[in-house]
This record gives sequence, structure tokens and C-alpha cells, in this order.
Amino acid sequence: LSTTVLRLRLVAQRPVRYRAGQHVVLWTSGGIARPYSLASLPDEDRFLEFHVDCAHPGEFADAARQFKVSDPVRLGELRGGALRYDPDWQEQPLWLMAAGTGLAPLFGVLREALRQDHQGPIRLVHVARDDSEFYLRAQLQALAAEHANLTLEWVLRSELADYLLQLRVVARQTHALVCGHPDTVEAFAKRLFLAGLSRNQLLADAFLTRS
Ligand SMILES: Cc1cc2nc3c(=O)[nH]c(=O)nc-3n(C[C@H](O)[C@H](O)[C@H](O)COP(=O)(O)OP(=O)(O)OC[C@H]3O[C@@H](n4cnc5c(N)ncnc54)[C@H](O)[C@@H]3O)c2cc1C
Repeated sequence: LSTTVLRLRLVAQRPVRYRAGQHVVLWTSGGIARPYSLASLPDEDRFLEFHVDCAHPGEFADAARQFKVSDPVRLGELRGGALRYDPDWQEQPLWLMAAGTGLAPLFGVLREALRQDHQGPIRLVHVARDDSEFYLRAQLQALAAEHANLTLEWVLRSELADYLLQLRVVARQTHALVCGHPDTVEAFAKRLFLAGLSRNQLLADAFLTRS
């Protein structure tokens, strides 16, 4: 999807029941197991899609770079995490704030919200190291062209502090879903809290690593 983000699509041997925003442990045939978020939508996609950050060396990332079509990958248990779309939010503002491959589950949640005909404004913010890492940009722009209530913002990580300073929560009913690298998730969460968003309207999932 970009120079550092690998898109992995798996075809499950048996149907997998999941919802947008969930994650699952992926096992390589060599026995390396790591959690990854589902970027696909049940009912709409015939494959399970994952976005693997390969920017840094890592056991799973290194193995994933070598995957070939038809290689087996085992799936562990599906986990809920915090991220989801709730139809009760239909009329309310929905903010989706992703850092790096934190876009994976939020892309799924976004498509689910649009599928359920979300009526309130949707704001998607993608934070990345540099311009070339704003992946899925064309797909997001195509969705925004079809849905007038969807606005998109791309923010460089070096400009995140300034971006956060001008962030204002206008509607008290706003629901914010934040996902990605722990530092960025924390920065968003702090700012949203200071801007007046109540804690139960903030759903955050940080991509903790083993180290
Ligand atoms: C619920 C959940 C969902 C997730 N979803 C996603 C997702 O959709 N996409 C995604 O890209 N990631 C996701 N992650 C994060 C991903 O699971 C971790 O980053 C995972 O550890 C990567 O595995 P790896 O084997 O490639 O790297 P690891 O070998 O586990 O290393 C993790 C990081 O630490 C660094 N590192 C390793 N050893 C050392 C060392 N000795 N000193 C310094 N640095 C070191 C590596 O360079 C690497 O960047 C998710 C995490 C969680 C908890």
C-alpha cells in the first residue's frame, strides 16, 4: 500500500464471523504470532485484509515481506478491542483518528458506518511519517466523493503537535475512535480530553509491541 505498509489478504478455509474494528493473532508457518487488526468488512469482502507496518525490522514483518501467494497463515482468536461502530451514533459526529497502520481497523469502521448510512459528520484524520505513507488515499477520496458527510485530513507526524492545538470538540455528542502507535494515541486522547470530550466517548486502541 506504500513503501512500508504491506497489504495482506487471507482467504479463510472456514467462514470467520467478525465485526469491523476487531483484531486477531496471525501465526506464520514458522510459529511467529502477532496481533493485527482487520481492515476488511464481513459481508462485503471475500478476504480478510490486514495492513502490516514493515517500516522497522521485526520477526513478523520480516516474515510477512517474504510471504508468497498460497502460503498458509493461521488465525488465533478474534478479539474485540475498543474500536467498533455503534448504530446508536448514527446522527452524531464520528471522528476516526489513525496513526500509521492504525488506519486498518478505522478503515473498516468507516466503511461499516457508511454501510449503515451514518448521517452525522464523519471526520477521518490520518497521521503518518511522510507524504508517501498516507496510504489508501485514493480509496478514501473516492468514498468522500460519494458521501458528503465525510471529511478527510492528512497530518504529518512532525506537524501533529500544532494540529492538536487547534483541535476543537464542537459537539458534545462526538464519538472519537483513535488507533495506532501508542505515543500518537496518547497525544490524541490527551488533547480530546482537554478539548472537552468525555472519556466514555473516546475509544482508543494502541498498537503495543512486545518490547
Ligand atoms: C491489538 C493490536 C492490534 C494491532 N494491529 C496492527 C495492525 O493492524 N498493523 C500493524 O502494523 N501493527 C499492528 N499491531 C502492532 C503489531 O502487532 C506489533 O508491532 C508487532 O510487535 C509487530 O511484530 P514484529 O514481529 O514485526 O516486530 P517485533 O519483533 O515484535 O518488534 C516490535 C518492534 O520493536 C522493535 N524491536 C524488536 N526488538 C528490539 C530490540 N531488541 N530493541 C529495540 N527495538 C526492537 C522492532 O523493530 C519492531 O518495530 C497491533 C498490536 C495490537 C496490540
